[in-house]
Amino acid sequence: MEERLNKFLAKAGVAARRKCDRLIQEGRVMVNGEVVLSPGYRVTEKDRVTVDGKLVECTGKQHVYLQLYKPRGYLTTLSDPLGRKTVADLLRDVPDRVFPVGRLDQDSEGLLLFTNDGQLAYVLAHPCFEVEKKYLVYASGKVTPQELDTLKRGIRFNDQDYRIREGLVIESNASLSLVEVILTEGKKHEVKILFEEIGHSVLRLIRIKMGPVVLDSRLLPGKWRYLTSQEVEALQ
Ligand code: URA
Repeated sequence: MEERLNKFLAKAGVAARRKCDRLIQEGRVMVNGEVVLSPGYRVTEKDRVTVDGKLVECTGKQHVYLQLYKPRGYLTTLSDPLGRKTVADLLRDVPDRVFPVGRLDQDSEGLLLFTNDGQLAYVLAHPCFEVEKKYLVYASGKVTPQELDTLKRGIRFNDQDYRIREGLVIESNASLSLVEVILTEGKKHEVKILFEEIGHSVLRLIRIKMGPVVLDSRLLPGKWRYLTSQEVEALQ
């Protein structure tokens, strides 16, 4: 079956589709010995596709899905040229090659999904699919429902629009608030930018839900488990 090169790479588990686009545009992908720079180039299983010289095999291998409780202090990347701690350090016992779906900042924690299903990773992480992400936010000072209304209407920062879909103050006093927010965009540092805009610093940020998948309350920080078949089904 003929399909787009970026989709072919994502399905083979090379990376999520956006990352596959980048690999192609960087000239790292060859089809039958020729560099191809267009993500929409059509290929079939008969073509010999390589990334950085390594053959991409479409073996029809099962996709795997897992959730990790990312602790603070770990980068959401599989390798770091500066030798800092990465989430890969926590997944050493995972037998399959998996990559993260979206990212959490180094000082954020909570639910991070991993898969080798590049197509699903693309859908979950791309803003246009509006997948809901729920966070618990510990913020400085007293956050009010009115301030959350401001964030629902949206703010502009560095020529970009940011907004929350839902927000609820769970507890607050003059120096600290615990707030639950739902966002659908997935922009870098979005929760911190939104809260700074209403005058509160984010002191602790925990993602507790992504799409239909909830952070398993029995997972200790740094631990992972495979998704159940019900969770995988809900993601499709
Ligand atoms: N928003 C942030 O500011 N940081 C994260 O890690 C996730 C969402």
